[in-house]
Amino acid sequence: MSFAELGLAEPIVRAVTEHGYTQPTPIQLQAIPAVLKGGDLLAGAQTGTGKTAGFTLPMLQRLNGGKRPAPRHIRALVLTPTRELAAQVGESVVCYGKYLKLSCEVVFGGVNINPQIQKLSRGVDILVATPGRLLDLMQQGAVNLAAVEILVLDEADRMLDMGFIRDIRRVLAVLPPKRQNLLFSATFADEIKALADSLLNQPQMIEVARRNSTVEVITQKIHPVDRDKKHQLLAHLITEYRWFQVLVFTRTKHGANRLAEQLSKTGISAMAIHGNKSQAARTRALAEFKSAKLQVLVATDIAARGIDIDHLPYVVNYDLPNVPEDYVHRIGRTGRAGATGEAVSLVCVDEHGLLRDIERFTKRDIPREVIAGFEPDPNAKPQPIQLRSQPSGRRHQPPAKAKAKQNASAQPAKRGPRPAAPGAALLSRPAANAHSRKVRSGER
Ligand code: AMP
Repeated sequence: MSFAELGLAEPIVRAVTEHGYTQPTPIQLQAIPAVLKGGDLLAGAQTGTGKTAGFTLPMLQRLNGGKRPAPRHIRALVLTPTRELAAQVGESVVCYGKYLKLSCEVVFGGVNINPQIQKLSRGVDILVATPGRLLDLMQQGAVNLAAVEILVLDEADRMLDMGFIRDIRRVLAVLPPKRQNLLFSATFADEIKALADSLLNQPQMIEVARRNSTVEVITQKIHPVDRDKKHQLLAHLITEYRWFQVLVFTRTKHGANRLAEQLSKTGISAMAIHGNKSQAARTRALAEFKSAKLQVLVATDIAARGIDIDHLPYVVNYDLPNVPEDYVHRIGRTGRAGATGEAVSLVCVDEHGLLRDIERFTKRDIPREVIAGFEPDPNAKPQPIQLRSQPSGRRHQPPAKAKAKQNASAQPAKRGPRPAAPGAALLSRPAANAHSRKVRSGER
């Protein structure tokens, strides 16, 4: 079925065709007619499925021809968890809407707010925003949400993971009751179901990829290796197999910086992006990576969220993520919209527990391949995993202690030196989940 047959108007079909899309993806086949009907939508779609066009195209059509927004008012609001994703959704809106007379602005934190206030002053048809900056703008009276016709929560699971639920509720509280709501999420944890129940009115439910499944077109591989040989192995793989456009994930910001430096020293051009980098530095690194000037981009999970590069061929898990869901998000950066991709994980003895969790979660065994010259020491003992960048090297505490601490208090974890417990058990799943929120918010 073509885009035109889905009921999209000619100027939108023309823009999409010029962009090179000939066939709607499965999520688009379902989402476009559902959104055009005007009802609420709950969509389970992983990144890489084409979900952005799935909501952007029908949203443009529904807004097209409507009344211009009043000063400071907006007609459609798209909330995203990260700046990068906001920027990319904004680019999609502009690209697909280029033959329509609709205005679009993107706002996020980390940059000067004044130009954003200026742009909003005349009113905007579509505003793409991260929750924190949107609240700032609301508080300053720069934006009025009373006339919102369409609300989109993109990557809602990730917004909740990042602790945005209170911000989202504050936004919802000032929206008009009559509006169309679209909620996109890769996973359906209880918190998402609760949000959907309170937000959506008799939603149409669609789901494309099998829940919690990894994207099928991605070749996955594990290279067992010792912890202190990982950077050498990565440099070897990149050089030996002439990998280009490699997105590498590390667990911590410090780890990302260190790895980028190590690779650069071996003559491989690499840059790190994470929450401690300025927005300008992040944008520059991403632009160089996209234009293939930069061979390797090293990123933490949150920073990499929303990176959308057509045909990104290689994703490397330099460290395994603490929560299995992140593995699916990470490798979903490659193999997008049907292209094939390779996801390689460098796994040391400390990470065997995390690997087991990932294989259980994705319901598949990932093939192992030992690289000659990098055989792991069979007698190596696991060490506790460092969860966040701290100069003192705070390490994950053994599960028993973690549990006691969890029960004892809901206070934020105190930072500070903590000696690594000798022989501490590997991170267990409940402990990993308990820590994941703090780690994520710490690793933006
Ligand atoms: P998304 O899941 O929205 O992040 O999109 C994933 C990737 O698929 C992006 O690189 C899009 O440019 C691409 N894409 C979206 N729709 C289509 C389509 N109908 N045909 C081919 N590629 C698409």
